[in-house]
Amino acid sequence: MSTCTFCGSEIEKGTGKMFVYANGKIAYFCSRGCEKNLHKLKRKPLKTPWTAEYRKEHKKGVKKAE
Ligand SMILES: [Zn+2]
Repeated sequence: MSTCTFCGSEIEKGTGKMFVYANGKIAYFCSRGCEKNLHKLKRKPLKTPWTAEYRKEHKKGVKKAE
């Protein structure tokens, strides 16, 4: 089981996307939205309210809006 590099959600087998960078680092994305946020919009998980990292940092029990 891997978790989404951006939002921190668990990714079920057979879903999501693995991205390998030129430097050998690997990123996992649960959805195209997460990939887009990280690569195209250059957002940081720490500054994006719906990610696990943000919640950890801000210690809020905000539920994921879907
Ligand atoms: Zn995600």
